[in-house]
Amino acid sequence: MTALSVSKVFNPNAGWYRGDFHAHTTASWDGHHPPAGLAEVARAGGLDFFAVTDHNTIAAFDELAGVEAALGIPGLEVTTRLGHMNVFGMTGKCDWMAGLLGNEEWETLPAPHTGINALVRRIAAQGLVSSINHPLLTPWAWQFNEVEWQYITALEIWNDPSFPINATVNPQTVALWTALLNAGRRITALGGSDYHRPAPHAWEGDKPAEQLNRPTTFVYADNLSVAAVLKAVKEHRVYVSMGAEVDLTARAEGQTTGIGGEIARPDAEITLQATISAGPAPAEAHLIHNGQTIARQPIAATPAAFGYTLPPSTGNAGWIRLDVVSAAGHILAITNPIFIGPAKTPAVQTCGDILAAIRDW
Ligand SMILES: [Zn+2]
Ligand SMILES: [Zn+2]
Repeated sequence: MTALSVSKVFNPNAGWYRGDFHAHTTASWDGHHPPAGLAEVARAGGLDFFAVTDHNTIAAFDELAGVEAALGIPGLEVTTRLGHMNVFGMTGKCDWMAGLLGNEEWETLPAPHTGINALVRRIAAQGLVSSINHPLLTPWAWQFNEVEWQYITALEIWNDPSFPINATVNPQTVALWTALLNAGRRITALGGSDYHRPAPHAWEGDKPAEQLNRPTTFVYADNLSVAAVLKAVKEHRVYVSMGAEVDLTARAEGQTTGIGGEIARPDAEITLQATISAGPAPAEAHLIHNGQTIARQPIAATPAAFGYTLPPSTGNAGWIRLDVVSAAGHILAITNPIFIGPAKTPAVQTCGDILAAIRDW
């Protein structure tokens, strides 16, 4: 039997790859496709990779190892009544899974776990990627207030748009992430369709179908392999798309960097170049600097590109990202930032710190 490998290369070229970081197989009670079927759905949806994130089980891993239609990212959705968290990159059972497997939803963290920080610390120490899922989506919102951000890699800012309440919850989650960035926390934004099945359950009424690839998460990876995709996630070379394909570069004093990179000199003049290579039009592109919209560019048709220059200022330090919004005001793309200047000491330590601020909005 083939074993799962994080280093198996599906495509040797560096570039932007399309994927989905959140999907369920038949190993979850509510999943419809086995891994091979999910891979076919991924490929039909134009994806290069898809993550398998079943509820407290890695039972799909053996079959995932033999899948060829698209790159399968092995993951697990740690599923509790206090919140859901994806973990990516392990190839089999790990010591931190002790007690966690075999139940679709735990009331709280099961024994032998003595605390959520002990768990996320072990996950981080093994080099794995963690992502807090749908953190504001009641009743599956994140309630582990004590979790320290230093152990968390990513936040799922855009979850299953077929779920009606996500029309308001996803933008709130983007605001939560923006507040984290402003507090100096370099958490990677990911998207996840949370795909379970091609058609809604009977009890879901006329809810639209879930779609693997909505949203699509684009990752600039050194090659198409599990290891390279997850390295890119750790390095913020990621954007989340609901239909637009974009890029953003920054130049300052001879240095050029892209999404996820860092401009070393925070006080230099910074020349930005935004590209919207595909997607619905008309639309509007927004440059967001430390949470403020500093430029709005109408996009009459794609492809389109525009430039913007931040004059030299010590106030440039922080981050900048590109959002693309449809004529109706819906998000079409959100990039991870280009960071400006060295990382500062973060102003928030725990999830509770930032969630309390959100509740006050
Ligand atoms: Zn979930
Ligand atoms: Zn899920």
